[in-house]
Amino acid sequence: MIAPRVEIDLGKIQHNARVLVKRLAARGISVTAVMKATLGSPEIANAFLEAGVKTLGDARIENITKMRQGGVSAPMALIRSPMCSQVARVVKYTELSFNTELDVVRLLSAAARKAKRIHGIVLMVELGDLREGILPNALNHTVQEILRLPNIAIKGVGTNLACRSGVVPDARNMAELSALANSIESTFGFPLEIVSGGNSANLHWALGGADVGRVNNLRLGESILLGCDPLNRQPISGLHTDAITLVAEVIESKVKPSQPWGTIAQNAFGSPAPPKSIGHIQQAILAIGRQDIDPAGLEPPPGIEILEASSDHLVVRSSRFNHPVGAEIPFQLNYGALLRAMTSPFVSKLWKNRAPILSSSLPPSKKPRLIPSY
Ligand SMILES: *Cc1c(COP(=O)(O)O)cnc(C)c1O
Repeated sequence: MIAPRVEIDLGKIQHNARVLVKRLAARGISVTAVMKATLGSPEIANAFLEAGVKTLGDARIENITKMRQGGVSAPMALIRSPMCSQVARVVKYTELSFNTELDVVRLLSAAARKAKRIHGIVLMVELGDLREGILPNALNHTVQEILRLPNIAIKGVGTNLACRSGVVPDARNMAELSALANSIESTFGFPLEIVSGGNSANLHWALGGADVGRVNNLRLGESILLGCDPLNRQPISGLHTDAITLVAEVIESKVKPSQPWGTIAQNAFGSPAPPKSIGHIQQAILAIGRQDIDPAGLEPPPGIEILEASSDHLVVRSSRFNHPVGAEIPFQLNYGALLRAMTSPFVSKLWKNRAPILSSSLPPSKKPRLIPSY
Protein backbone atom coordinates (compact mmCIF):
# COMPACT_ATOMS: atom_id res chain seq x y z
CA MET A 1 0.00 0.00 0.00
CA ILE A 2 1.08 3.61 -0.53
CA ALA A 3 3.57 4.83 2.10
CA PRO A 4 4.23 6.88 4.08
CA ARG A 5 0.63 7.58 4.99
CA VAL A 6 -1.47 9.01 7.78
CA GLU A 7 -4.47 6.80 8.46
CA ILE A 8 -7.37 8.75 9.88
CA ASP A 9 -10.20 6.83 11.46
CA LEU A 10 -13.16 9.12 10.86
CA GLY A 11 -15.40 7.02 13.09
CA LYS A 12 -13.05 7.44 16.03
CA ILE A 13 -12.54 11.18 15.71
CA GLN A 14 -16.26 11.60 15.18
CA HIS A 15 -16.80 9.68 18.41
CA ASN A 16 -14.32 11.96 20.19
CA ALA A 17 -16.08 15.06 18.86
CA ARG A 18 -19.49 13.73 19.87
CA VAL A 19 -18.35 12.92 23.42
CA LEU A 20 -16.75 16.35 23.91
CA VAL A 21 -19.73 18.20 22.41
CA LYS A 22 -22.05 16.34 24.79
CA ARG A 23 -19.94 16.79 27.93
CA LEU A 24 -19.44 20.49 27.25
CA ALA A 25 -23.10 21.07 26.34
CA ALA A 26 -23.93 19.92 29.86
CA ARG A 27 -21.80 22.86 31.04
CA GLY A 28 -23.43 25.32 28.62
CA ILE A 29 -20.38 25.39 26.35
CA SER A 30 -20.43 24.99 22.55
CA VAL A 31 -17.56 23.54 20.52
CA THR A 32 -15.76 25.20 17.63
CA ALA A 33 -13.77 22.41 15.97
CA VAL A 34 -10.31 23.66 15.02
CA MET A 35 -9.32 22.26 11.66
CA LYS A 36 -5.73 23.42 11.22
CA ALA A 37 -4.08 20.08 11.97
CA THR A 38 -6.26 18.53 9.25
CA LEU A 39 -5.30 21.17 6.69
CA GLY A 40 -8.96 22.10 6.38
CA SER A 41 -10.13 18.64 5.35
CA PRO A 42 -13.77 18.75 4.19
CA GLU A 43 -14.10 15.01 5.10
CA ILE A 44 -13.11 15.66 8.71
CA ALA A 45 -15.17 18.86 8.84
CA ASN A 46 -18.27 16.91 7.83
CA ALA A 47 -17.52 14.20 10.39
CA PHE A 48 -17.35 16.87 13.11
CA LEU A 49 -20.54 18.58 11.96
CA GLU A 50 -22.40 15.25 12.04
CA ALA A 51 -21.10 14.83 15.60
CA GLY A 52 -22.86 18.01 16.71
CA VAL A 53 -20.14 20.61 16.25
CA LYS A 54 -21.83 23.87 15.19
CA THR A 55 -18.90 25.99 14.01
CA LEU A 56 -15.49 25.34 12.48
CA GLY A 57 -12.36 27.35 13.10
CA ASP A 58 -9.01 27.60 11.43
CA ALA A 59 -5.95 29.79 11.78
CA ARG A 60 -5.46 29.96 8.01
CA ILE A 61 -7.76 31.40 5.40
CA GLU A 62 -6.41 28.90 2.86
CA ASN A 63 -7.84 26.01 4.90
CA ILE A 64 -11.18 27.79 5.27
CA THR A 65 -11.31 28.43 1.53
CA LYS A 66 -10.57 24.74 0.92
CA MET A 67 -13.45 23.65 3.16
CA ARG A 68 -15.81 26.12 1.46
CA GLN A 69 -14.75 24.83 -1.94
CA GLY A 70 -15.26 21.29 -0.62
CA GLY A 71 -18.91 22.16 -0.02
CA VAL A 72 -18.82 22.79 3.74
CA SER A 73 -21.38 25.50 4.51
CA ALA A 74 -21.23 25.62 8.35
CA PRO A 75 -20.27 28.91 10.02
CA MET A 76 -16.49 29.33 10.03
CA ALA A 77 -14.20 31.48 12.12
CA LEU A 78 -10.68 32.63 11.38
CA ILE A 79 -9.12 32.13 14.81
CA ARG A 80 -5.82 33.88 14.05
CA SER A 81 -5.76 37.63 13.60
CA PRO A 82 -6.28 38.32 9.87
CA MET A 83 -3.39 39.61 7.80
CA CYS A 84 -4.03 43.08 6.35
CA SER A 85 -3.37 41.57 2.93
CA GLN A 86 -6.16 39.00 3.38
CA VAL A 87 -9.13 40.98 4.68
CA ALA A 88 -11.16 40.69 1.49
CA ARG A 89 -10.92 36.88 1.60
CA VAL A 90 -11.67 36.82 5.31
CA VAL A 91 -14.88 38.75 4.76
CA LYS A 92 -15.82 36.59 1.79
CA TYR A 93 -15.25 33.14 3.32
CA THR A 94 -15.89 33.54 7.06
CA GLU A 95 -18.66 34.83 9.29
CA LEU A 96 -16.31 35.64 12.12
CA SER A 97 -12.68 36.47 12.79
CA PHE A 98 -10.68 36.81 15.99
CA ASN A 99 -8.99 40.18 16.29
CA THR A 100 -6.60 42.17 18.43
CA GLU A 101 -5.60 45.13 16.23
CA LEU A 102 -7.77 48.17 15.47
CA ASP A 103 -6.05 48.77 12.15
CA VAL A 104 -7.00 45.27 11.00
CA VAL A 105 -10.62 45.74 12.10
CA ARG A 106 -10.73 49.02 10.17
CA LEU A 107 -9.61 47.17 7.04
CA LEU A 108 -12.17 44.40 7.70
CA SER A 109 -14.83 47.08 8.01
CA ALA A 110 -13.90 48.60 4.66
CA ALA A 111 -13.78 45.17 3.00
CA ALA A 112 -17.15 44.19 4.51
CA ARG A 113 -18.73 47.44 3.34
CA LYS A 114 -17.43 46.85 -0.15
CA ALA A 115 -18.77 43.28 -0.12
CA LYS A 116 -22.09 44.48 1.39
CA ARG A 117 -21.69 42.11 4.33
CA ILE A 118 -21.65 42.36 8.09
CA HIS A 119 -18.49 40.76 9.47
CA GLY A 120 -18.52 39.45 13.03
CA ILE A 121 -15.51 39.76 15.28
CA VAL A 122 -14.38 38.26 18.56
CA LEU A 123 -11.92 40.42 20.50
CA MET A 124 -9.10 38.33 21.94
CA VAL A 125 -7.92 39.42 25.37
CA GLU A 126 -4.42 38.90 26.77
CA LEU A 127 -4.67 37.03 30.08
CA GLY A 128 -1.06 36.09 30.64
CA ASP A 129 0.15 33.59 28.03
CA LEU A 130 1.65 36.46 26.01
CA ARG A 131 0.59 35.38 22.58
CA GLU A 132 -2.32 37.25 20.96
CA GLY A 133 -4.65 39.51 22.89
CA ILE A 134 -5.67 43.06 23.74
CA LEU A 135 -4.46 44.01 27.23
CA PRO A 136 -7.52 44.20 29.53
CA ASN A 137 -6.98 47.89 30.29
CA ALA A 138 -7.14 48.72 26.57
CA LEU A 139 -10.32 46.76 25.88
CA ASN A 140 -12.85 49.54 26.48
CA HIS A 141 -11.05 51.93 24.18
CA THR A 142 -10.84 49.27 21.46
CA VAL A 143 -14.55 48.48 21.72
CA GLN A 144 -15.41 52.17 21.60
CA GLU A 145 -13.41 52.66 18.40
CA ILE A 146 -14.83 49.54 16.73
CA LEU A 147 -18.41 50.59 17.47
CA ARG A 148 -17.91 53.52 15.09
CA LEU A 149 -16.96 51.23 12.21
CA PRO A 150 -19.62 50.25 9.68
CA ASN A 151 -20.35 46.61 8.75
CA ILE A 152 -18.59 45.19 11.81
CA ALA A 153 -20.47 43.43 14.62
CA ILE A 154 -18.70 42.68 17.89
CA LYS A 155 -19.91 39.16 18.65
CA GLY A 156 -17.83 38.37 21.66
CA VAL A 157 -14.59 38.13 23.54
CA GLY A 158 -12.12 35.30 23.89
CA THR A 159 -8.73 34.35 25.13
CA ASN A 160 -6.04 31.81 24.40
CA LEU A 161 -3.81 30.27 27.06
CA ALA A 162 -1.31 27.41 27.34
CA CYS A 163 0.07 28.00 23.84
CA ARG A 164 3.12 30.22 24.03
CA SER A 165 3.95 30.13 27.72
CA GLY A 166 1.96 27.19 29.06
CA VAL A 167 -0.24 29.37 31.30
CA VAL A 168 -2.94 27.05 32.67
CA PRO A 169 -6.61 28.08 32.24
CA ASP A 170 -8.00 28.23 35.77
CA ALA A 171 -10.79 29.68 37.89
CA ARG A 172 -8.99 32.99 38.17
CA ASN A 173 -8.19 33.82 34.54
CA MET A 174 -11.55 32.42 33.36
CA ALA A 175 -13.38 34.55 35.94
CA GLU A 176 -11.44 37.55 34.63
CA LEU A 177 -12.67 36.81 31.10
CA SER A 178 -16.27 36.58 32.37
CA ALA A 179 -15.89 39.84 34.26
CA LEU A 180 -14.54 41.57 31.14
CA ALA A 181 -17.53 40.32 29.13
CA ASN A 182 -19.93 41.65 31.79
CA SER A 183 -18.12 44.95 31.94
CA ILE A 184 -18.26 45.51 28.16
CA GLU A 185 -21.99 44.74 28.16
CA SER A 186 -22.75 47.13 31.00
CA THR A 187 -20.49 49.89 29.67
CA PHE A 188 -21.69 49.79 26.08
CA GLY A 189 -25.17 48.30 26.42
CA PHE A 190 -25.04 45.50 23.86
CA PRO A 191 -24.94 41.73 24.47
CA LEU A 192 -21.92 39.54 23.75
CA GLU A 193 -23.06 36.25 22.23
CA ILE A 194 -19.70 34.50 22.42
CA VAL A 195 -17.30 34.16 25.32
CA SER A 196 -14.64 31.80 23.95
CA GLY A 197 -12.55 30.57 26.86
CA GLY A 198 -9.74 28.83 25.01
CA ASN A 199 -8.52 25.59 23.48
CA SER A 200 -8.15 21.94 24.47
CA ALA A 201 -6.08 23.00 27.48
CA ASN A 202 -9.32 24.44 28.97
CA LEU A 203 -11.06 21.06 29.19
CA HIS A 204 -9.66 20.23 32.58
CA TRP A 205 -11.12 23.48 33.93
CA ALA A 206 -14.37 23.29 31.94
CA LEU A 207 -15.22 19.72 32.90
CA GLY A 208 -13.91 19.97 36.43
CA GLY A 209 -17.25 21.03 37.89
CA ALA A 210 -16.34 24.63 38.74
CA ASP A 211 -18.56 27.56 37.77
CA VAL A 212 -17.84 28.33 34.10
CA GLY A 213 -19.25 31.85 34.43
CA ARG A 214 -19.89 33.51 31.08
CA VAL A 215 -17.68 31.12 29.09
CA ASN A 216 -19.92 29.47 26.48
CA ASN A 217 -17.48 28.32 23.79
CA LEU A 218 -14.21 26.41 23.46
CA ARG A 219 -12.09 25.91 20.35
CA LEU A 220 -10.92 22.30 20.23
CA GLY A 221 -8.38 20.68 17.92
CA GLU A 222 -5.90 18.38 19.61
CA SER A 223 -8.33 16.86 22.13
CA ILE A 224 -10.72 15.76 19.38
CA LEU A 225 -8.06 14.39 17.06
CA LEU A 226 -5.72 12.79 19.58
CA GLY A 227 -8.03 12.22 22.56
CA CYS A 228 -5.61 13.68 25.06
CA ASP A 229 -5.33 16.68 27.36
CA PRO A 230 -2.56 18.98 26.11
CA LEU A 231 -1.71 20.14 29.65
CA ASN A 232 -0.27 16.75 30.55
CA ARG A 233 -0.74 14.68 27.35
CA GLN A 234 -2.81 12.20 29.34
CA PRO A 235 -5.72 10.40 27.62
CA ILE A 236 -9.18 11.92 28.21
CA SER A 237 -11.53 9.25 29.55
CA GLY A 238 -13.90 7.82 26.98
CA LEU A 239 -11.97 9.15 23.96
CA HIS A 240 -9.94 7.28 21.35
CA THR A 241 -6.23 8.11 21.44
CA ASP A 242 -5.41 5.99 18.40
CA ALA A 243 -7.66 7.58 15.79
CA ILE A 244 -4.66 8.75 13.76
CA THR A 245 -1.70 6.57 12.83
CA LEU A 246 1.38 7.24 10.74
CA VAL A 247 2.66 4.31 8.70
CA ALA A 248 6.15 4.30 7.17
CA GLU A 249 7.98 1.70 5.12
CA VAL A 250 11.35 0.03 5.72
CA ILE A 251 13.92 0.61 2.94
CA GLU A 252 17.00 -0.85 4.62
CA SER A 253 17.29 -3.49 7.34
CA LYS A 254 20.70 -4.63 8.54
CA VAL A 255 22.66 -5.64 11.58
CA LYS A 256 25.08 -2.74 12.17
CA PRO A 257 27.37 -1.55 14.94
CA SER A 258 25.61 0.75 17.43
CA GLN A 259 28.44 3.28 17.28
CA PRO A 260 29.66 5.30 14.30
CA TRP A 261 33.32 5.29 13.37
CA GLY A 262 35.65 7.97 11.99
CA THR A 263 36.12 11.54 13.27
CA ILE A 264 32.77 12.78 14.65
CA ALA A 265 31.58 16.37 13.98
CA GLN A 266 28.00 17.69 13.70
CA ASN A 267 25.41 15.85 11.66
CA ALA A 268 22.93 17.46 9.27
CA PHE A 269 20.74 18.69 12.15
CA GLY A 270 23.23 19.60 14.91
CA SER A 271 25.05 17.47 17.43
CA PRO A 272 23.19 14.33 18.41
CA ALA A 273 24.01 12.58 21.68
CA PRO A 274 26.59 9.90 20.91
CA PRO A 275 24.81 6.54 20.66
CA LYS A 276 25.26 4.06 23.48
CA SER A 277 27.77 1.33 22.83
CA ILE A 278 25.69 -1.81 22.87
CA GLY A 279 27.45 -3.92 20.29
CA HIS A 280 25.63 -4.71 17.11
CA ILE A 281 21.96 -3.88 16.66
CA GLN A 282 19.21 -4.63 14.20
CA GLN A 283 18.91 -1.27 12.44
CA ALA A 284 16.17 -0.31 10.02
CA ILE A 285 15.73 2.79 7.90
CA LEU A 286 12.22 4.06 7.14
CA ALA A 287 11.47 6.22 4.12
CA ILE A 288 10.26 9.28 6.03
CA GLY A 289 12.17 12.19 7.53
CA ARG A 290 12.13 15.61 9.10
CA GLN A 291 10.51 17.02 6.02
CA ASP A 292 7.43 14.95 6.88
CA ILE A 293 7.41 14.49 10.63
CA ASP A 294 8.86 15.75 13.89
CA PRO A 295 10.79 12.67 15.07
CA ALA A 296 10.46 13.77 18.71
CA GLY A 297 6.67 13.62 18.34
CA LEU A 298 6.48 10.01 17.16
CA GLU A 299 5.63 7.15 19.45
CA PRO A 300 6.88 3.87 17.98
CA PRO A 301 5.27 0.49 18.63
CA PRO A 302 6.80 -1.78 21.31
CA GLY A 303 10.16 -3.17 20.22
CA ILE A 304 11.08 -0.17 18.07
CA GLU A 305 13.31 2.68 19.22
CA ILE A 306 13.83 5.84 17.18
CA LEU A 307 17.57 6.57 16.91
CA GLU A 308 17.88 9.54 14.57
CA ALA A 309 16.16 11.31 11.70
CA SER A 310 17.50 13.28 8.77
CA SER A 311 15.50 14.99 6.02
CA ASP A 312 14.42 11.77 4.34
CA HIS A 313 15.48 8.90 6.60
CA LEU A 314 14.22 7.74 9.98
CA VAL A 315 16.71 5.37 11.62
CA VAL A 316 15.26 2.95 14.16
CA ARG A 317 16.47 0.05 16.22
CA SER A 318 14.30 -2.96 16.20
CA SER A 319 14.79 -5.06 19.31
CA ARG A 320 12.12 -7.70 18.95
CA PHE A 321 11.67 -8.39 15.29
CA ASN A 322 13.61 -8.21 12.11
CA HIS A 323 11.71 -5.76 9.92
CA PRO A 324 12.54 -6.68 6.33
CA VAL A 325 12.62 -4.23 3.48
CA GLY A 326 9.02 -3.45 2.52
CA ALA A 327 7.67 -3.92 6.06
CA GLU A 328 5.39 -1.19 7.39
CA ILE A 329 5.76 0.25 10.88
CA PRO A 330 2.91 2.20 12.54
CA PHE A 331 3.50 5.17 14.87
CA GLN A 332 1.28 7.30 17.08
CA LEU A 333 1.81 11.05 16.69
CA ASN A 334 1.68 14.03 18.96
CA TYR A 335 0.14 17.28 17.74
CA GLY A 336 3.40 18.69 16.35
CA ALA A 337 4.20 15.54 14.42
CA LEU A 338 0.61 15.36 13.18
CA LEU A 339 0.72 18.95 11.93
CA ARG A 340 3.87 18.27 9.97
CA ALA A 341 2.70 14.94 8.58
CA MET A 342 -0.59 16.45 7.43
CA THR A 343 1.28 19.33 5.81
CA SER A 344 3.80 17.16 3.97
CA PRO A 345 2.83 16.49 0.35
CA PHE A 346 4.89 13.28 0.59
CA VAL A 347 2.58 11.73 3.19
CA SER A 348 -0.69 10.34 1.81
CA LYS A 349 -3.87 10.73 3.80
CA LEU A 350 -6.16 7.75 4.07
CA TRP A 351 -9.64 7.84 5.58
CA LYS A 352 -11.21 4.81 7.12
CA ASN A 353 -14.33 3.82 9.01
CA ARG A 354 -16.89 6.40 8.13
CA ALA A 355 -19.36 4.53 10.33
CA PRO A 356 -17.55 1.95 12.44
CA ILE A 357 -20.57 0.90 14.48
CA LEU A 358 -22.67 0.05 11.46
CA SER A 359 -19.80 -1.43 9.47
CA SER A 360 -19.44 -4.39 11.84
CA SER A 361 -22.86 -5.55 10.74
CA LEU A 362 -22.12 -5.28 7.03
CA PRO A 363 -21.02 -8.24 4.88
CA PRO A 364 -17.23 -8.26 4.32
CA SER A 365 -17.55 -7.02 0.74
CA LYS A 366 -19.34 -3.88 1.97
CA LYS A 367 -16.88 -3.07 4.76
CA PRO A 368 -15.36 0.41 4.34
CA ARG A 369 -12.08 0.34 2.51
CA LEU A 370 -9.13 2.65 2.74
CA ILE A 371 -9.65 5.39 0.20
CA PRO A 372 -6.65 7.49 -0.83
CA SER A 373 -7.46 11.19 -0.80
CA TYR A 374 -5.09 11.85 -3.66
C1 LIG B 1 -4.81 26.09 17.44
C2 LIG B 1 -5.74 26.95 18.19
C3 LIG B 1 -6.75 26.36 18.96
C4 LIG B 1 -6.91 24.86 19.12
O1 LIG B 1 -5.98 24.39 20.05
P1 LIG B 1 -5.97 22.86 20.49
O2 LIG B 1 -4.98 22.83 21.59
O3 LIG B 1 -5.58 22.07 19.30
O4 LIG B 1 -7.34 22.52 20.96
C5 LIG B 1 -7.64 27.21 19.61
N1 LIG B 1 -7.53 28.54 19.52
C6 LIG B 1 -6.56 29.14 18.81
C7 LIG B 1 -6.51 30.63 18.75
C8 LIG B 1 -5.63 28.37 18.12
O5 LIG B 1 -4.67 28.97 17.40
